[in-house]
Amino acid sequence: MSRKEVQPLHIYRFLPRTNCKLCGCPTCYSFAFDLISRDRTLNDCPPLQEPEQADALKTLKGFLGEGERIPGTDHVIDRTRCTGCGDCVLACGRALTTVTIGGRLSKRETVPEVLQVINGSLHVINAPSCKRSDKSLDLCGVCADRCPFEALDLVKAEPRDDDD
Ligand code: SF4
Ligand code: SF4
Ligand code: SF4
Repeated sequence: MSRKEVQPLHIYRFLPRTNCKLCGCPTCYSFAFDLISRDRTLNDCPPLQEPEQADALKTLKGFLGEGERIPGTDHVIDRTRCTGCGDCVLACGRALTTVTIGGRLSKRETVPEVLQVINGSLHVINAPSCKRSDKSLDLCGVCADRCPFEALDLVKAEPRDDDD
């Protein structure tokens, strides 16, 4: 299973499932959602750090990868995997200048680039330009789809939809 296919239920199956609330979530299942959105990390679950949970923790790390969410964006970048190839930057450049309205592709005015490779690793340099920051636009995912190394993921936009 690729990381993009991992759902909260997959995560939940490997959590301690005691609903102890030590992580700050009301249930282990809600913690699974927060792990997917990277609002919390595996370190936030104390029982998961116990020796008897080592196998489960290893599996969960495999599901979630080493990526870190860039604050204020949907982007999760795994710098242990990013080669700085720039494929996502090129793909984003094309995505930024087009938008689908009523099923038809239309040109959009030029906007500043969102992504840039700096010192061999991807960075988000202009988050407000990202189409995902504008809810009136398509929920773009072109950059992550383009990454050949599973180094880039996109998670739910902030503020979360269920906060509306
Ligand atoms: S701390 Fe871990 S075991 Fe306790 S509720 Fe949170 S996820 Fe479940
Ligand atoms: S989600 Fe779309 S607009 Fe945003 S950085 Fe990725 S490709 Fe660019
Ligand atoms: S995130 Fe992926 S596509 Fe983008 S520069 Fe890194 S390796 Fe290349």
